[in-house]
Amino acid sequence: MNKKSLFSQLPSVEEILNNKKIMGLIEKYSRNLIVDTIRDCIDDVRKRIISLKDCEIDTFYIDYDKLIENIIKNLESVYSLSLKKVINATGVVIHTNLGRSLLSDSIKEDVWKIASRYTNLEYDLELGQRGSRYSHLEDIIKKLTGAESVLVVNNNAAAVLLVLSTLANGKEVIVSRGELVEIGGSFRIPKVMEQSGAILREVGTTNKTHIKDYEEEINENTALLLKVHTSNYRILGFTKTVDIDELSILGKKYNLPVVEDLGSGLFIDISRYGLKYEPTVIDSLKKGADIVTFSGDKILGGPQAGIIIGKKEYIEKMKKNQLTRALRVDKLTIAALEATFKLYLDENRAIKEVPTLRMLTFTADELSKKAEKLYNMIKNEKLDIDLNIEDGYSQVGGGSMPLENIKTKVITIIPKRISVSELERKLRLCENHIIARIYDNKYVIDVRTVFEDEFEIIVKELVNVLK
Ligand SMILES: *Cc1c(COP(=O)(O)O)cnc(C)c1O
Repeated sequence: MNKKSLFSQLPSVEEILNNKKIMGLIEKYSRNLIVDTIRDCIDDVRKRIISLKDCEIDTFYIDYDKLIENIIKNLESVYSLSLKKVINATGVVIHTNLGRSLLSDSIKEDVWKIASRYTNLEYDLELGQRGSRYSHLEDIIKKLTGAESVLVVNNNAAAVLLVLSTLANGKEVIVSRGELVEIGGSFRIPKVMEQSGAILREVGTTNKTHIKDYEEEINENTALLLKVHTSNYRILGFTKTVDIDELSILGKKYNLPVVEDLGSGLFIDISRYGLKYEPTVIDSLKKGADIVTFSGDKILGGPQAGIIIGKKEYIEKMKKNQLTRALRVDKLTIAALEATFKLYLDENRAIKEVPTLRMLTFTADELSKKAEKLYNMIKNEKLDIDLNIEDGYSQVGGGSMPLENIKTKVITIIPKRISVSELERKLRLCENHIIARIYDNKYVIDVRTVFEDEFEIIVKELVNVLK
């Protein structure tokens, strides 16, 4: 055998087109796409032959079935999406890498209807003329928070940029040194301020800032007082920060707007559900903030968005800023946001139907039941593994509540025939992409972030990988 005779054994495109399995695909894919794919796959075999070493030539043969299989696989992959559903078994509820908050199933029809049909997005039905896309959120935000006005942009980073660019361009903004945070590696408060044209005036020290530090820095060029909720880290020990109520009194005294970047947008006091107290949007406004900004897809549990609420006089100015056009959100975001806000009209409903809140408020009993169910399902398969239910900790994630480790139940697996990291890799790459942690040399599935309808899939994939 030599390479020349191997080349002569390569099937022609015509031959493969006459294969039964390939013929069956003509209805599904265009002829051109099929021919191109066949050509590419034959070419791959040709390249493989070219690269054969002399000693490999005699044992090499052209596996026709495998070639057909490859062609079909390549055809299927042309239409498969790169952005895919995964199973989050990490226990990190607001997992930025895995898409942050999940929208509620109960809003999907509302959102799809708006996405696939014409709407009154910027059309005032009463007047029969042009309207504002932000008007759709005004009534519901007023009802939920008491705020006079609302504006929504692409994300909270954009919200902070727009607020500063509108109210403080070329002027000074006073902020505590302890609040000059970086979030998610790319959002740095000092950098955003620079971009907006505002001049940063840092006051206090990293661990202590007093109200008199702010007051001493105020001058005729001061535009606003900013408070940033340090949502992804906390300074412990000898500390002093100025609360938004104290800052608001100072703002009124000097007629300066007070802005709070809250980060996560809580509408519900979650300390009622056993979590640590975090300031809510309503608290911030009640305590006197003139403008509050927060994310749509952190604890709020909505789509990615930056929500700016507060005094109408300031928000009207922001709407006129040219940047607003560049940062504007589309109808999908507005539809998902309005529908998510509506769930909050009834707190019990929000807790039950907003997945982020639901996952954060599972009771110990609910978590135990979930863990036992999955444990039993896996156990039934009699796999060659060590399987246990253990106590563990989940995280809120998304830079929210950094020190808050919430007790959970985890399933731990130690496979006997492959390594833990091999198991992790195979489950991550399998059709259903299960993302979990390895801890203490065990594969750890936190049931908090796994939906019950995903249990069967996990079992199926475990069987596939370990059989
Ligand atoms: C998360 C966060 C941001 C950035 O919000 P995005 O919606 O991710 O742009 C800004 N400020 C604070 C305090 C945050 O926690």
